[in-house]
Amino acid sequence: MSTASHLLYLVSAVAFVVGLHLMGSPATARRGNLVSTGGMVLAVVVTAVVLVDDGSIGGTALLVLVAGLAVGSAAGLVTARRVRMTAMPQLVSLFNAVGGGGAALVAFAEVLRAEGVLDRAGVSLVLPTVLDVLIGALTFSGSLVAAGKLAGRLPGNPVTSAAGRVATLALGGAAVVAGLVLLTGRGGTPLLVLLAAAALALGVLLTLPIGGADMPVVISLLNACTGTAVAMAGFVLDSVVLVIAGALVGAAGAILTLLMAEAMNRSLTSILIGGYGTADTAEAVAATGNVRATSVDDAGLQLAYASKVVVVPGYGLAAAQAQHELVALCSALEASGIEVSYGIHPVAGRMPGHMNVLLAEADVPYPQLRDLEEVNPEFARTDVVLVVGANDVTNPAARRPGNPVSGMPILDVDRARSVIVIKRSMGTGYAGIDNELYTDPRTTMLFADAKAGLRELLTAVQTYAR
Ligand code: NDP
Repeated sequence: MSTASHLLYLVSAVAFVVGLHLMGSPATARRGNLVSTGGMVLAVVVTAVVLVDDGSIGGTALLVLVAGLAVGSAAGLVTARRVRMTAMPQLVSLFNAVGGGGAALVAFAEVLRAEGVLDRAGVSLVLPTVLDVLIGALTFSGSLVAAGKLAGRLPGNPVTSAAGRVATLALGGAAVVAGLVLLTGRGGTPLLVLLAAAALALGVLLTLPIGGADMPVVISLLNACTGTAVAMAGFVLDSVVLVIAGALVGAAGAILTLLMAEAMNRSLTSILIGGYGTADTAEAVAATGNVRATSVDDAGLQLAYASKVVVVPGYGLAAAQAQHELVALCSALEASGIEVSYGIHPVAGRMPGHMNVLLAEADVPYPQLRDLEEVNPEFARTDVVLVVGANDVTNPAARRPGNPVSGMPILDVDRARSVIVIKRSMGTGYAGIDNELYTDPRTTMLFADAKAGLRELLTAVQTYAR
């Protein structure tokens, strides 16, 4: 490889690091995304040029490379452009699956290219090959199951059984043994295939028991696994830029996983063991008490005469695509001198950072977004909390043990003077349990689709504006 290609790879790696850094704040995240994309395009182009230049590929292989690039880019572009905001988490999960599966296939391609390499090569090549196949295949099937759960095609609740646990342990043990045998230079490609099969089954068995409110953690964990598998593929191919890209994704995913687990107040081990909140461990939580429905007029009046309002957005806001209507209402309230801020729960919506992305799209000034620790002490001084399509993240049942949201820190909206909840019905949220907030005497329910409800509320607020 020439000095020029080394330098260009270095530029790509720097673009990944700078891009990731910029993604740390919603204000610069878009730029970060563009910078990282530029780095990746550069790395792909340089690799293609190097492969052609040194004669590694030509003829049919070159055609396959170009066709792969075209099909992959087109598929990525079309799906990312067309995807509805609410289906974004499934798409991210599918991208994780593609990344993990692709990394595992790279290891296989190398093993098949250099026949017998597993028996000849030292630990320094066999170890990354084994880890690449193990983690990559596990991520592929695990991410497909996670995408199925998020899309509602598989049961969203934890699926557990004693047989499943035994099978997980047995397959885990078998995968470790297969890996160790491969490291001693025996077994060759057939054993690598068996390892891949065990990893695929493990991905399914490990993801099925995780569900309900723990899904955000598993999504970020699978993302970390994708990065790690890609980094291993980088070692297999001796590609520094791939190692760097994979390591960055792996490290960022691992940090996000820990943050998410902390946000859910769960240990990673308890999440991975799974089954939390299934019927055999959870007490049914039934809302008792009266539900008070309110009208658009009454809610508008209440908002117009408040001094301090906190808005709590949730998945329903994304489902209704009502972010622009919400911002219009908040601007009208601010124009009448009312202090408005947004309380953002880390797992609100269906993907990490979902509410930040949604509200950034509607140009909400970043300083108005308050995270959980920041906003919770504010509720006691808040006149009206307007909950828009959020459910689990406000459920006071989380403060008691024995239910699917137990232990999850919530937005303490029930400590405010009054609460207005906009949602369509008494339907449950992702965790599938009733919300005790809805029967709290301070709460009134405005039953409406978020978009239509917010539009009508805006008209009412303008009517009553002081
Ligand atoms: P929830 O899923 O708890 O509740 C959303 C509510 O929105 C529903 O109760 C629904 O009620 C309402 N809703 C749906 N569509 C509309 C609409 N068009 N207009 C108005 N309301 C609507 O959402 P939260 O954000 O409170 O909590 C997120 C949950 O998702 C947590 O349990 C979290 O663990 C889980 N999760 C989060 C992920 C993440 O990374 N953030 C990933 C996977 C899961 P109704 O039908 O009555 O309208």
